Amino acid sequence: MIALGRKAGPRLTDRRRRRFLAGAVALPFAGRAAAALVPTPACGPQAAATPGQTEGPYFLPGSPERASLLEPDSPPERLTLDGDVVLRDCRPAAGALLEFWHCDDRGLYDGTGYRYRGHQFSDRNGRFRLETIFPAIYPGRARHIHVKVQAPHGPVLTTQLYFPGDARDGLWRRELVVALSRAGAARQAAFRFIVEA
Ligand code: FE
Repeated sequence: MIALGRKAGPRLTDRRRRRFLAGAVALPFAGRAAAALVPTPACGPQAAATPGQTEGPYFLPGSPERASLLEPDSPPERLTLDGDVVLRDCRPAAGALLEFWHCDDRGLYDGTGYRYRGHQFSDRNGRFRLETIFPAIYPGRARHIHVKVQAPHGPVLTTQLYFPGDARDGLWRRELVVALSRAGAARQAAFRFIVEA
């Protein structure tokens, strides 16, 4: 396990040290894109939990468990979201439920099936990875991804994730903006959820 606070000691291996120094979010991918991503809000004594937001009208319970929401006919603009779930004291939330749903590339939600809907659980270090498309912007809203996050036995956090420089509606909040880099049609995003135990 990687220490996320000042307790990281001198016995860290070089590999682990690089990951520690790279930022609070230990991203499981390597290379230039990882180095470019600045971690989203840090945990720690003064940390606020990730703010909640409205669920909106399009949540459907019962989504399939899957880390990839890609469909055979998905458009080429792909988004990978890496991150982790931690408690306010920085302990990783292993086995946290993450439920994602978002509109398609035309700005439409699937109201009868589970296109672009799915849930997964964080690993033992609290990490997760979502592979999906870059959701479209639909009228009246900033581009967003809906999410529910729940540490084991904790309260459910319902919120939305946003993208940099897209404050086109009153719901967009800086604390909910992912770190983002782009290489061609692939976008790499990172976010840390800070949740209540
Ligand atoms: Fe929405």
